[in-house]
Amino acid sequence: MNYFSSNFKLGILGGGQLGKMLLYSTRKFDIYTCVLDPSEQAPCKIACNEFRQGDLMDFETVYNFGKLVDVLTIEIENVNIDALETLEREGVKVFPSSRTLQTIQNKSTQKLFYKDHDIPTANFTRFAYTSEIKEAVNHGGLNLPFVWKAAQFGYDGYGVKIIRNLEDLTGLPNVECIAEELVPFKNELSVIVARNLDGEVKSYPVVEMEFHPEANQVEYVICPARIEESIAKKARNIALKVSDAFNHVGLLAVEMFQTEEDKILVNEVAPRPHNSGHHTIESSYTSQFEQHLRAILNLPLGKTDNKVAGIMVNLVGAENYTGNVIYENIEHIMKMEGVTPHIYGKKETRPFRKMGHVTIVNENIKEARQIAEKVKNTIKVISE
Ligand code: ADP
Repeated sequence: MNYFSSNFKLGILGGGQLGKMLLYSTRKFDIYTCVLDPSEQAPCKIACNEFRQGDLMDFETVYNFGKLVDVLTIEIENVNIDALETLEREGVKVFPSSRTLQTIQNKSTQKLFYKDHDIPTANFTRFAYTSEIKEAVNHGGLNLPFVWKAAQFGYDGYGVKIIRNLEDLTGLPNVECIAEELVPFKNELSVIVARNLDGEVKSYPVVEMEFHPEANQVEYVICPARIEESIAKKARNIALKVSDAFNHVGLLAVEMFQTEEDKILVNEVAPRPHNSGHHTIESSYTSQFEQHLRAILNLPLGKTDNKVAGIMVNLVGAENYTGNVIYENIEHIMKMEGVTPHIYGKKETRPFRKMGHVTIVNENIKEARQIAEKVKNTIKVISE
């Protein structure tokens, strides 16, 4: 099929920042795009060819949108899966597949999938309701501490809580959930795998998340991860195994723990471009967004090596500021070497809202890390 400067239409469910960055690549290739998002102010609006406003969880809306396009992809997982399944049956190409999304949308079925495919993951117990956990603990069927995770609709750490005693369960929603072994980990790692329809597959170098020592928030995404080569190899191989198990087409970001004993355990996956791959825009031969397009359109995959080391800092809304956003000191960080800000285009900031990110590239990863810290301490996302 001819995708370039043609009548071909690519549909994207979701119009947030991931979609917007994907659109830089569709623009580069002159591929026609249609985007569906509930918000009239979606960041994608400025770069797609057609924008439609609508509910991503509504069958009719997603189905009717899908009928307009040749290939359909997502930039957010919470979409109506029945509609995707119907579209697949009617000949629309959907990547990731409805089946993959179905497995992933629910943490309980996602974890079972890993067990079934012999993919290392932390042990867990499934519960239909949070209220059943107490009894399991009292009867010795479950040991404290553990990590409570809502099976559905968690995002960016909401829907996850470490439970050290039974009182910690107070106030949690009474929903389907899992109780997962608390993993003492050295590092949180991520590997992005790209796979096209022909089965060509490539993985990106391992990325490491560095956490704030007190706030327990990811501060820096660092590529390549500062880990031993043998661990990196193990992580990349496990990520490839996961992609293969899903028979995945497109990008699959595989988040993993490196345990104290250097075991690699898969935490969760995202079947789309991912926060842990933003640095690739500046630091890799092929950005994750271009790679996602190549994969879902069954084109040859691009080289995944780093040209230089890359570090990513998320720009989130500062606490106590809500309203029209200002990026304070952005000129100061732009004076620093190898620093590029990305502003997603959300007009309103709120505490902890993801508003943009900054990439720092440098031949030397230590220098990159020092500059990243300066960036972090200089720019502030505040309101007027
Ligand atoms: P979300 O889907 O909201 O991103 P995750 O499952 O990735 O939720 O969990 C969020 C964070 O909680 C992880 O990045 C990690 O720091 C911590 N976490 C999750 N599971 C465990 C676990 N089993 N043991 C220890 N920490 C965990």
